[in-house]
Amino acid sequence: MMTDFQLTSPIETIRFQNHTFFLKRDDLIHPDFSGNKARKFYYYLKNDFPYIKKIVSYGSVQSNAMYSLSVLAKMKGWEFEYYVDHIADYLRENPHGNYAAALKNDMHLIVGRGIPTPTKNMLFIEEGGRQKEAEYGIRILAEEISFWQKEQKIEKLNIFLPSGTGTTALYLQKAFVGVGIPQPTVYTCACVGDDMYLKEQFSMLEADEKYHPTILALEKKHHFGKLYRENYEIWLKLHEQTGVVFDLLYDPLGWRTLLAHPQVYEEAPLLYIHQGGILGNESMLPRYQRKYPLMANE
Ligand SMILES: *Cc1c(COP(=O)(O)O)cnc(C)c1O
Repeated sequence: MMTDFQLTSPIETIRFQNHTFFLKRDDLIHPDFSGNKARKFYYYLKNDFPYIKKIVSYGSVQSNAMYSLSVLAKMKGWEFEYYVDHIADYLRENPHGNYAAALKNDMHLIVGRGIPTPTKNMLFIEEGGRQKEAEYGIRILAEEISFWQKEQKIEKLNIFLPSGTGTTALYLQKAFVGVGIPQPTVYTCACVGDDMYLKEQFSMLEADEKYHPTILALEKKHHFGKLYRENYEIWLKLHEQTGVVFDLLYDPLGWRTLLAHPQVYEEAPLLYIHQGGILGNESMLPRYQRKYPLMANE
């Protein structure tokens, strides 16, 4: 399927709202295995696990992690069992997005049952890929960025990426601590819970706070997956001004948060990490279009 898989992606320059940003296109890593999930699961792709017969994970039925795990399982010749609390009738009858793509990769979906006790034949993956093993692939991301930074002769670099579990942002910041001087500062925002939740997620993976990214926030509270007009608005603007399709769950809040903190991209060049997730737009975009039918033409 992809024996010569390469975990690399280009860095482009974009103009947005009259500012220049650099954009790390991790969405372009590979058509089937891309974004931060490819980085997070790369460890399992690269190493041998002779006892493993299946991947077991859980979470939401439209998650990007779920789809990427279905690809990983296929590449490794493993089964893939995925546990969800609930699936909407509409989605079950009209599979689309990550769910449809994961089914095509022979995912076994198990609804409303408890997660099994791990055995030695089972590779158990935490929701969203919050795992120590993620550090392996994210270190490669840090190396690519450092190499590019030197090549571009950028003295001080700021990096921004929106967080779910915070695993990507954490391991990215960690990889830069103690290497080149001055080290890049990794900024992020909490998309799934609040800032406290995100800090707890960081601490679960890494107790030492010197490795933690810097959390930026908006004043208004944000609920994950809710259809905010402001989110759709900035997503449309991004597409119009940059030509790049961003994800609809994390990136709108990411860009809104970043733009609300201009010092972060005015004091130093800013690299935004595009973490993929475009397949998820298949379910999010029609929902936005139904809710705000006139907006695309405004
Ligand atoms: C999974 C995902 C995130 C969140 O990544 P974490 O490592 O859990 O913080 C952000 N953006 C996209 C597009 C994702 O798919």
